[in-house]
Amino acid sequence: MRIIMLGPPGAGKGTQARKIAEEFHIPQISTGDIFRRAVEENTAMGKKAKEYMDSGMLVPDDIVVGIVEERLNKPDADAGFVLDGFPRTLYQAERLEQILEKKGVHIDAVINILVQRETVIERFTGRRVCQVCGASYHIKYNPPKKPGVCDACGNKLITRHDDELETVKKRLEEYEQKTSPLIEFYKSRHLLIDIDGNKPIDEVNKSIVDVLRGETK
Ligand code: ADP
Ligand code: AMP
Repeated sequence: MRIIMLGPPGAGKGTQARKIAEEFHIPQISTGDIFRRAVEENTAMGKKAKEYMDSGMLVPDDIVVGIVEERLNKPDADAGFVLDGFPRTLYQAERLEQILEKKGVHIDAVINILVQRETVIERFTGRRVCQVCGASYHIKYNPPKKPGVCDACGNKLITRHDDELETVKKRLEEYEQKTSPLIEFYKSRHLLIDIDGNKPIDEVNKSIVDVLRGETK
């Protein structure tokens, strides 16, 4: 199964993508995680990406598309994948179609997580992430078993630099301007599935899994 997670920053894409990946035994491909790792490792690409990420802007398309293409060419993506945080512009969506066409495969579903703006802001302020494995927690809604420690890999949890209010506002603006047109793009391809993301994590997950199971039958 090949899935795209769509929705504003903080909607719960990463949280749900991780669960879908486990449920359907496919890799979660998160461009945000790839960039954060590159920043942490201080690679040339990481240095470039950091400037944009810290100011809440999207990383330029040519950098992102190259990274995703390389990742999709790894053998574990042959059986399917869940893309989390990509595509984020119409150009990226078009390039993704070309990449998949070359491979003779296509996207099965685009999960569009709908959330209210107030909900999103509250989610950002409580978000804590694991820099090593990418797991995302919330101090109130999805706390780790041991405060400050990742359940999945035992590493330290951090607050993302770009989760401060001013940067969040810029990220939401970038979403409205550059990413939200993808809703119409995928609707016109009959791939869009709207999911109410305002409910608790497990309920949102159940709605997604139910609909994907229906899709795969
Ligand atoms: P995105 O990948 O879309 O930016 P995340 O998956 O990182 O969003 O979720 C943002 C924050 O909200 C995290 O702290 C996460 O634990 C929390 N969260 C995700 N889904 C829900 C939900 N349905 N209810 C409450 N909190 C949630
Ligand atoms: P995320 O973890 O998905 O919230 O992404 C964090 C940041 O990484 C974004 O604010 C962007 O700066 C950058 N980023 C991640 N994915 C993309 C993408 N597909 N296109 C452009 N920038 C991206």
